[in-house]
Amino acid sequence: MVAFSELTADWQSGGRFRHPRLVTVYLVGAGPGDPGLITVRGAEVLARADVVVYDRLSVRSLLDLAPPDAQRISVGKSRGRASLPQEEINALLVERGKTGAEVVRLKGGDPFVFARGGEEAAALLHAGVPFEVVPGVTSALAVPAYAGVPVTQRGMATSFTVVTGVSGQAGSPPVAWEALARVGGTIAVLMGAAVRGEIADRLMAGGLPGTTPVAAVTWGTRPEQRTQRTTLDCLGAVPVDAPAVIVIGAVAGLDLRWYEDRPLFGRRVIVTRAREQASDLVERLHDLGADTVELPVIELREPTDGGTTLGEAARRVGEYDWLAFTSSNAVARFFDALDGAGGDTRALGGVRVAAIGPGTAAALAARGVRADLVPGRFIAEAVVEAFPSGPGRVLLPRAAVARDALPGGLQEKGWAVDVVEAYRTVAGRPSPEALAAAASADAVTFTSSSTVTNYLEVVDTAGRPLPVPPVVACIGPITADTARAAGLPVSVVAAEHTIDGLITGLLEALAAGGERTPS
Ligand code: SAH
Repeated sequence: MVAFSELTADWQSGGRFRHPRLVTVYLVGAGPGDPGLITVRGAEVLARADVVVYDRLSVRSLLDLAPPDAQRISVGKSRGRASLPQEEINALLVERGKTGAEVVRLKGGDPFVFARGGEEAAALLHAGVPFEVVPGVTSALAVPAYAGVPVTQRGMATSFTVVTGVSGQAGSPPVAWEALARVGGTIAVLMGAAVRGEIADRLMAGGLPGTTPVAAVTWGTRPEQRTQRTTLDCLGAVPVDAPAVIVIGAVAGLDLRWYEDRPLFGRRVIVTRAREQASDLVERLHDLGADTVELPVIELREPTDGGTTLGEAARRVGEYDWLAFTSSNAVARFFDALDGAGGDTRALGGVRVAAIGPGTAAALAARGVRADLVPGRFIAEAVVEAFPSGPGRVLLPRAAVARDALPGGLQEKGWAVDVVEAYRTVAGRPSPEALAAAASADAVTFTSSSTVTNYLEVVDTAGRPLPVPPVVACIGPITADTARAAGLPVSVVAAEHTIDGLITGLLEALAAGGERTPS
């Protein structure tokens, strides 16, 4: 028996304090592809994982939910490498589990539906390693749902059968397709794309009419989703790529479309913002059905002097008449510096606060500060226009390299302006996957001049500059000028210089832009 205190000491020995936990290995269903379809419990255990073991059908963005320093181990097929044999995966889980690390075994869909989660659980049980099963949203149900096919429907189907297209191997019993044909409900075939013709023949031999509706859905719940609608007698002749869920039965004739009808469905849009600023834009594009490529061409860094000057300025903020912000990032950095200097929002007392636009104002509001001034147009010139006349002192914490329009304009109005470096932007290093995906994008979004200049300097893995997608969308006129000056054909300049405005512009441009060219 291990004493509680010993256990606690063990958990502390890793450097960070951990409450002792009983469970060490989690078999987690990641859902079928849409990252939103992981369960709350799944996301919770991923967020604190030490080790994540994943495979080919795992969703990349879910791996980002794990702590940055978590070990990520791929056991699936990848370029030039076969997947790890199941026995070795089992052994890996047992070995890592025994170290007391929190291990998440991430699996597409549900871990106990054609995913060999049962074998992994048995190995863990046998080795005495505690585990938890976190069920997932199986593709068998979610993929038809995203294609607008309910697996049961009053008056049409009173049951559904989930069946594998690959059976009769390695000791698993063969599927009795002819018998299945007589069950009468909906049939959802997984892993059946390659053998669909054979399956159709056997179901028809069992008595299912050739006119039975079929919906074959490839890469369901993902932006690449494609639904083929046909009938059982034609199934073999219709091309169906894997991975697919093939739904057979009366319900497959229903077409309650929603996902594939989203306005940006099938469109690929590049987001060039720094990673910590991208989530809002990415989320909204997803909601509209777009496939987003996160290509952070800039990264945010500490100021050159490590923040000393910003800290000083924050300490003396009460001496200023105005505090002006041109980005939510500057807001975050300033308030962190204020906190670091031992102050809080009370230090702002009589200081009035200006924000360049609603995003910046929202960042202020999140810290309990209501902006006194937000101009009608969200550019530096409009801030100057809306500002009263000096004299007085203005503190402007902002990026290391920025335009002179705001400090210059305020000085002309009689203000003494202290520009303080709150952060720096440096060139980002997009991942090879993002670079590859970007090559076939329909649109690129620029939210600042620096995203434009840095995008133009990004090269792909072969050292070539990135192709410019048909639609170039800019958040405002200054960004657009930078893009045009660099020779980019700007097709969208957001009327309102916000993320909302940018999306409205994109919607118009992409809706008018005709079909996506197949890549
Ligand atoms: N455990 C998984 C199934 C793994 S077997 C689950 O519960 O969903 C792999 C098969 O699942 C694939 O061959 C395919 O038939 C199906 N599948 C998984 N994800 C899919 C997706 N996004 N779109 C279509 N089929 C999918």
